Amino acid sequence: MNIEELKNNYPLIKKMLLEEIIWLNPDYSSYDKAVEEIDLSMEDINDAEDRLKRFAPFIMKKFPETISVNGMIESPLEEIENMKVNLNQNNKADFKGRLFLKEDNNLAIAGSVKARGGIYEILKYSEDLLLKNNLITKNDNYEKIADSKIKNFFSEYSIHVGSTGNLGLSIGIISAALGYHVTVHMSMDAKQWKKDLLRSKGVNVMEYASDYSKAVEEGRKLSEKNPKSYFVDDENSVNLFLGYSVAAKRLVKQLEDRKIKIDKEHPLFIFIPCGVGGAPGGITFGLKKMFKDNVHCFFVEPTEAPCVLLGMMTKLNNSISVQDIGLTGKTCADGLAVGRPSKFVGKIMKRLLSGDITVPDNKLYDYMRELLNSENIFIEPSSCAAFHGIVKLNTDPVFKNYLEKNDLLDKMENSYSIAWATGGSLVPEDIKKEYINTYL
Ligand SMILES: *Cc1c(COP(=O)(O)O)cnc(C)c1O
Repeated sequence: MNIEELKNNYPLIKKMLLEEIIWLNPDYSSYDKAVEEIDLSMEDINDAEDRLKRFAPFIMKKFPETISVNGMIESPLEEIENMKVNLNQNNKADFKGRLFLKEDNNLAIAGSVKARGGIYEILKYSEDLLLKNNLITKNDNYEKIADSKIKNFFSEYSIHVGSTGNLGLSIGIISAALGYHVTVHMSMDAKQWKKDLLRSKGVNVMEYASDYSKAVEEGRKLSEKNPKSYFVDDENSVNLFLGYSVAAKRLVKQLEDRKIKIDKEHPLFIFIPCGVGGAPGGITFGLKKMFKDNVHCFFVEPTEAPCVLLGMMTKLNNSISVQDIGLTGKTCADGLAVGRPSKFVGKIMKRLLSGDITVPDNKLYDYMRELLNSENIFIEPSSCAAFHGIVKLNTDPVFKNYLEKNDLLDKMENSYSIAWATGGSLVPEDIKKEYINTYL
């Protein structure tokens, strides 16, 4: 790879080494054209949704906090009017539409967006295993998966996963609940409290003094040695991706409940914090299926770790890392501290993603405090990356180009924007205080 040549072909690379940027995807296309190139379909999303429904009795049994919502792991959609006023004032913005927070920070069991993909992947693996061994049929009440007979069966199997923290929490908690031996391989970015919490649940935590890609590699190697071991491969997993995509169907219902209709005159803008790309990719895929050309999806990544942006822009996807161009990959946004993107998400996103925005770490803490002060909602710093997209949409000339080009300028009064909150409810009180007092 010739980096100097890349820098000449993609001048944004030089800029992103120095400051925050907005990348508009030049390959963004109409939905009809985009889906021609994608193998995954609505049936795949429906299949994932059905599987989650089958497991609902088990989820209720093991996680009683989900009984009131029938064992569905889902989060509220909250309008955040005060935050909107606040963002307008502090950024000299003139935000015209309505602003919502999708509160995946409050997802049951794991307190982050990883409760969608991570838990789904383990349930899928477990169901396949049980069906193969004639221990269940798809018509059974899956509550019986909590019985000691099946728990003993799972105890002969191991699960491994590499994580910067939140994926480990979700895989660790659900795998331990099913009865597996589970090992989480944590990168250096992982916060101590996440390791402590996992150990308290009987999860084996291995720590590495290296970045996320290395933790994944080590986990994969160790898992391959054991034929009764399964490796959750965040960089390559289609199952994780589909677990995330179910979010879109649920969001359609939540918007309908609020009598909100998304159409040409009422566009929807979505901003999702992005690490390896699986979570925001899966959600975007689902949303494009549901709202087609009327939804505009953007990822937000740290200025030092914009791996999906770099991979998509150069079309090198996982063949390039942010370290290759001279960025550190280091960020206090632990959920987003990924230097090399997913192998396949960039390809699926090629014509679906509208763009990608980078955010400096110091702003994450400011947004976090603003949300807490204006709405009394706490989300973790990684999660706050979404607000940077909201601000840019309403202030930056690059975004104005996007709106012009897509015939959206006169529709902003009637637009809806969603900041996708991706984590926070499990953060311990003392760490929360530390975050609130962090000024970079
Ligand atoms: C994992 C994570 C993301 C992004 O998900 P990826 O699949 O890694 O792109 C965003 N926010 C938080 C808090 C996360 O933990």
